[in-house]
Amino acid sequence: MKVICLDGEYVGRDQAKVSVFDHGLLYGDGVFEGIRAYGGRVFRLDQHLRRLYDSARTIMLQIPLTPDEFGQRIVETCRRNGIQDGYIRAVVTRGVGDLGLDPRKCDKASYFIIADAIQLYPERCYEEGLKVITCSTRRNAPTALDPAIKSLNYLNNILAKIEVNRAKADEGLMLNQAGLVSEATGDNVFVIRDGKLYTPPLAAGILCGITRDAVIELARAAGIEVVEQFFTVQFVYNGDECFLTGTAAEVIPMVEVDQRPIGDGRPGAVTKQLIDAFRALVASEGTPIK
Ligand code: PMP
Repeated sequence: MKVICLDGEYVGRDQAKVSVFDHGLLYGDGVFEGIRAYGGRVFRLDQHLRRLYDSARTIMLQIPLTPDEFGQRIVETCRRNGIQDGYIRAVVTRGVGDLGLDPRKCDKASYFIIADAIQLYPERCYEEGLKVITCSTRRNAPTALDPAIKSLNYLNNILAKIEVNRAKADEGLMLNQAGLVSEATGDNVFVIRDGKLYTPPLAAGILCGITRDAVIELARAAGIEVVEQFFTVQFVYNGDECFLTGTAAEVIPMVEVDQRPIGDGRPGAVTKQLIDAFRALVASEGTPIK
């Protein structure tokens, strides 16, 4: 990684610093996106920008440039770092304020964009699948902090991730306040049963994943019926196949949940079909970096 875009300037890694008075740090007051580049193109940039600006609008955070300008900065950051395949982190914070939490004390939002090589899950995880537990930490209630906001406040997910680590599992399912499956700590959840694809609806209290959207499109295009429906973890146990989706993880099989093998305990045929379709999709579209 050579340079980071910090408030419109391209600075070296050592110069890319934010203030200890930034409310992004003091209070998790800010929003972000994780984005991928594949083969010299940024995948679904417009959708990521839309979600970023929606999250910002919800928390009344004024991003100091237009979505188009922000998108250009993202592409330029990739270009300057020679990124062909990589992971981009775009962060907007409330900016510098005083020690109180009042966002009105922060004059100007701050933003930065990091474009780096991606730390991929090993290929083995895609071939063998993940072992997952159900976490006891419930996903944030939408009435308290809507998981649809991609905010800098990830402690809810981190508490769940700590449970995953302590259980020596690969990932964790999070239930919503009603005890229904919402999402994983950083990914959306899908179950295949009798050839249909099921995933919790947005009303389950989830982040509306861009990979989730892409997989729903791909499944429908392949003639697979997609049902957005509430379900319990019991439904997951009895799925024929399960997988997770996310920008970093892409489409990744889950082969065990709470020590119950899913299907025959190996990644299933529909999951493999969707992994292939997703890999073909990311190789075929995107905003060119040059
Ligand atoms: N849920 C959560 C909580 C996430 O943080 C993410 C992003 N890592 C996702 C789902 C997946 O969203 P996307 O496909 O847009 O990366």
